[in-house]
Amino acid sequence: MSTLHHMSVSSPLAPPAAPGWCPPDDAWLNRFARLHQDAHARLNVPLGTPQEGDPLPSPRWVATCEALARDMGWPAHWANDTALQVLSGNATWPGMAPLSTVYSGHQFGQWAGQLGDGRALLLGEIDSPIGPQELQLKGAGATPYSRRGDGRAVLRSSIREFLCSEAMHGLGIPTTRALALTASPEPVRRETMETAAVVTRVAPSFIRFGHFEHFAHSGQPRHHEALAALLDFVLTHHFPHLLGHDQPALALLDEVVTRTADLMAQWQSVGFCHGVMNTDNMSILGLTIDYGPFGFLDAFDPGHICNHSDTQGRYSWNNQPQMGYWNLRALAQALAPLVPGADEDVQPLVDVLQRYEARFPQAMTGRWRAKLGLRAEQPGDGELAVDWLRLMDAGKVDFTIAFRRLCGFASQALPSDPANAPVRDLFLDRAAFDAWAERYRQRLIAEASVDAERAERMRDVNPVYVLRNHLAEGAIRQAQRGDFSEVQRLHRLLQTPFVEQAGCEADADFPPAWAQSIEVSCSS
Ligand code: AMP
Ligand code: MG
Repeated sequence: MSTLHHMSVSSPLAPPAAPGWCPPDDAWLNRFARLHQDAHARLNVPLGTPQEGDPLPSPRWVATCEALARDMGWPAHWANDTALQVLSGNATWPGMAPLSTVYSGHQFGQWAGQLGDGRALLLGEIDSPIGPQELQLKGAGATPYSRRGDGRAVLRSSIREFLCSEAMHGLGIPTTRALALTASPEPVRRETMETAAVVTRVAPSFIRFGHFEHFAHSGQPRHHEALAALLDFVLTHHFPHLLGHDQPALALLDEVVTRTADLMAQWQSVGFCHGVMNTDNMSILGLTIDYGPFGFLDAFDPGHICNHSDTQGRYSWNNQPQMGYWNLRALAQALAPLVPGADEDVQPLVDVLQRYEARFPQAMTGRWRAKLGLRAEQPGDGELAVDWLRLMDAGKVDFTIAFRRLCGFASQALPSDPANAPVRDLFLDRAAFDAWAERYRQRLIAEASVDAERAERMRDVNPVYVLRNHLAEGAIRQAQRGDFSEVQRLHRLLQTPFVEQAGCEADADFPPAWAQSIEVSCSS
């Protein structure tokens, strides 16, 4: 097995920043802020509230993501003292147009009314070599949408969001990114007293299903016009290939159906559980967004509920694809006012929505097939994959480790051969493993699979490292004592989750017994 030290990330080294560097002010595009200004002036319908962060005392860098900064064309050593203040909500760079945005949504299946950026602050949108990117702070203080919240985020949950954003990116899963994490001694009350932190999130857009729901819900003509403007904005800037479509709202829904189905298949394939799939936490771009009580499966349990507050298991691992569909239905309802004739006949919307029922299983089977190392598509592949999952479920076998060990499966040997012991020994019921593995073996032989080549392909899609709760917890406990080195180490490790790294065996191992006692809730 190949063992590599930190694999270098491809971007070339940027030249160092001049003293006092900040992004050039003419690089800020701030198109969402302009959309807001226009809708506010023309329709008297705000899309948010311009405002600045609520200052946080004595911020410190916890970690930065240099790979992302390089991708955005920023120089090395960009993270200077001014940047620290800006990315803690205490100052602004020239050219920014900070604003908190308003959205609504369905939470746990119920219409929740107006929500909005209660603790997020869109700093602005900046042009970059990877396209225009919005920068958003999470935890920068109260906004008009904070309701009873304090507008803050605690260090614990901010470390989880910072690490998981980059871990998902490393896994190749669409996600908002995280550029920086800063911490302050400012006390924040949750179940206990904790301290404040700010994550700088980066994405081409933070528009959620809930933004559309917000303007669709009231039914007022001016809100209808704002909804139309939002659709036009999203198409123009994020789906330009759909412009000029004779049914733009249907075209957008179609695209979001596809992206969401594919995203759900990707989540399932790495055992990721989001935890709070409310419609306000669903990205119109099909990105993973709003990391809260998420979790990765340890021992495989399809009914696994990662969010301690989700008492009904609405967002359990095996429910996620269905919940993605449920959320798309809410989006379809929000887009209905923009579909001519939809008040009389919703069939065109339903037809687009129902494409999910074919798209998701197709995407999912494709993912399982790749994870099993199967090349050409065969009729029984879906069944073979499902039976592998059943086998893991029956034995409560570790999801990530089982897939990774299966990469080394020797199809030239019998399942019971010592060559297959690493994966076989994960299963107490050896006979059940042997029965499934013999089917797998025959399937591989039928496509003349070469073990070494197949193993290499499988290791590109079956990660060694995922952000298990206990790993995050270890980094959190150290950080709470003022030592951020474990956050930085995990951040580096999770950028290349498919490559085994020397000295990181424990990060790839089974979770320790104490991991079972970790409870992750909505409290963040
Ligand atoms: P979430 O479940 O974290 O996606 O949050 C749902 C809503 O509650 C969003 O509108 C958040 O902005 C808001 N929210 C969550 N936590 C806070 C907080 N500490 N202060 C203000 N608003 C919050
Ligand atoms: Mg949210």
